[in-house]
Amino acid sequence: MSADIKLEQAKMTNSNDNPTASTRASEDGNRALHYEENLLWEKERSDTPGVDLPTPTGIALRTGSEPRGDIGLPQVSEPQALRHFVRMSTWNYSIDHGFFPLGSCTMKHNPRINEKVARIPGFAHLHPMQPESTTQGALALMYDLQHWLAELTNLPGVCLAPAAGAHGELAGMMTIRRAHELNGNKHKTVILIPDSAHGTNPATAITCGFTVRNIPTGGTGRVTVDAFKQALYAVSEDGAEVAGMMVTNPNTCGLFETDILEISELLHDAGGYFYCDGANFNALVGKIRPGDFGVDVMHINLHKTFSTPHGGGGPGSGPICVTEELAQYMPVPTVIKDGEKYKLEWEEDRPDTLGRLKGFQGQFGMHVRALSYMLSHGADGLKRVSEDAVLNANYILRSLESDFNAPYADQGPCMHEALLTDKHQKANGVQTLDIAKALIERGYHPMTVYFPMVLPGTMLIEPTETESKDSMDRFISVMKEIAEDSANLDNAEEHFHSFPHSSPRRRLDEVKAARNPQLRWK
Ligand SMILES: *Cc1c(COP(=O)(O)O)cnc(C)c1O
Repeated sequence: MSADIKLEQAKMTNSNDNPTASTRASEDGNRALHYEENLLWEKERSDTPGVDLPTPTGIALRTGSEPRGDIGLPQVSEPQALRHFVRMSTWNYSIDHGFFPLGSCTMKHNPRINEKVARIPGFAHLHPMQPESTTQGALALMYDLQHWLAELTNLPGVCLAPAAGAHGELAGMMTIRRAHELNGNKHKTVILIPDSAHGTNPATAITCGFTVRNIPTGGTGRVTVDAFKQALYAVSEDGAEVAGMMVTNPNTCGLFETDILEISELLHDAGGYFYCDGANFNALVGKIRPGDFGVDVMHINLHKTFSTPHGGGGPGSGPICVTEELAQYMPVPTVIKDGEKYKLEWEEDRPDTLGRLKGFQGQFGMHVRALSYMLSHGADGLKRVSEDAVLNANYILRSLESDFNAPYADQGPCMHEALLTDKHQKANGVQTLDIAKALIERGYHPMTVYFPMVLPGTMLIEPTETESKDSMDRFISVMKEIAEDSANLDNAEEHFHSFPHSSPRRRLDEVKAARNPQLRWK
């Protein structure tokens, strides 16, 4: 895209219908100290190189190979490069800017003590190939974190290596596959998954070579014993049997699976394992232990439940916790204690392991942050975390249930997230996407939209325990205004379709973007 066209677009997208002097952008699209930013390549000038070092003469190339040609780096000065990246860094909305009510993703405040501890030079400057005799402190930290996770889940086998939640799912499901394979159960290849599941669940099962059988949740939002039995006892044409189930608890509708004990017993009786997607652990931590409701394997999103900055590309960490029976099969390494010494346990120490899924020992910096979070809260503090998270979500649900359709509000309290839909607003032509854009216009990051997919137009709101009543009240009042406008304005549809007005980019043509994506800059 040429700079001219981009500039034209920037003007178009930024101009209001009736621009006044105070709203007009300057020639390069900047306004009010908010900067448009071109690509670095568009800034370079053919007559000015980015460095002014003289070309060295009389030095033979040490590698003895052909001299290097132009590698195509943009030729800009140091201040230009610095400004480019600093400007773009200010475009990233984060939990440190304001309320970030993404359901399922648990965007909570990351206490700065975590960062301070992670930057202690003895942790921050470790090299993964250092001899173990020089990394005993780090291994002790990982050992303690394994212990905390085992206590909180009542699942004693812990592997910290997976790098994210989805990676933990892969590690956990490969553990289940390994157990079936080594126990002569290769015909167990069917995984039961409710239709409300996060997309990573079926994707993981398929990646591991399983087939997926759906458990319909109907209008209830929960897995019922009847629906589960039907899926469990359905007969596969190819004679494949049930290997396990993947269930998120509390589920993605924000509800606790009330029949989970009975369901897990039926599954175990049929020789299957229970994989729990632990992304919603923030609702349970310190209150109940998943191992007590029949879970065999579970991943924990350290970057959700135990703070750590994420979203916008911060590193994640998705340890898995497994039963004693399954611990021999899970990936290596784990940290074990050998007398007074800590060591990493590899394939030669644990022959039935499925092997290694990640370089070295996983995202150590996240391990430091998570343990720092746990120790600074203490056992009582972690319990309070989940209680306050659930209380806050219920405050939002009860405050908005008369303004928006709250499909499960009659089923009692929700867990850590509140589910609404656009059913009432849709009658006036205002849909979930319009509500999200109106929120942006009012300075709020939208909630998770169109997930879970069990109902049309869902909005999943998770305030977490770190939002104050004041910040939730402001959000609630904006949501109420949006509901009022969509009900009362004569031109509600048109009005809402025009949002957002003030953001650097207006409403995009999402259909065109999806059908005809331009993925390369030319
Ligand atoms: C976030 C999430 C995942 C995936 O975790 P990542 O760390 O993003 O890979 C899986 N399941 C649920 C329910 C989630 O919310």
